[in-house]
Amino acid sequence: MNLKDYIANVPDFPIQGIQFKDITPLIADGKAFQYATQQFVDFTNEIGADIIVGPDARGFIFGCPVATQLGIGFIPVRKPNKLPREVISYSYDLEYGSNTLCLHKGDIQKGQKVLIIDDLLATGGTIEATIALIEKSGGIVAGIAFLIELVDLKGRDKIDNYKVLSLMSY
Ligand code: AMP
Repeated sequence: MNLKDYIANVPDFPIQGIQFKDITPLIADGKAFQYATQQFVDFTNEIGADIIVGPDARGFIFGCPVATQLGIGFIPVRKPNKLPREVISYSYDLEYGSNTLCLHKGDIQKGQKVLIIDDLLATGGTIEATIALIEKSGGIVAGIAFLIELVDLKGRDKIDNYKVLSLMSY
């Protein structure tokens, strides 16, 4: 199956000059969604991860079906003021301004092997923050999986020391 057939390329969204990769046609197609999920399931088994972490919000879409299929847990990384209990947080710079991501304190056990799943690797800021939160919690990042990697943005340079799977590259 060619997963690229299920990605819509939307020029100039959300701002001029950005080509947005719209994953909604893929998740609307049962067979394509199942195929992508299965690649993530196989990778989870290969690296022996025992928990899935997904960043807000599209990481939830791909991380949750993998977790349920394997009967392992899913932990969300969220934007500020969304998680109700005590959190640890990590802020990182964007081209303009900054972003913060949060994780519930105590959600990840020391030594737990984590697979991070997200929809897309662009500059790598989101994934770097997610890794920092997991490692600060004592977890081990056993692997990182994306549906899409935008190669020119060189996010991969930030995660060179980790095992990475991308189902599609542009
Ligand atoms: P980054 O932190 O730069 O790696 O960007 C990560 C997040 O931004 C991804 O998880 C996507 O949800 C979103 N994103 C960035 N660039 C794009 C794009 N061209 N198309 C769709 N989503 C994008």
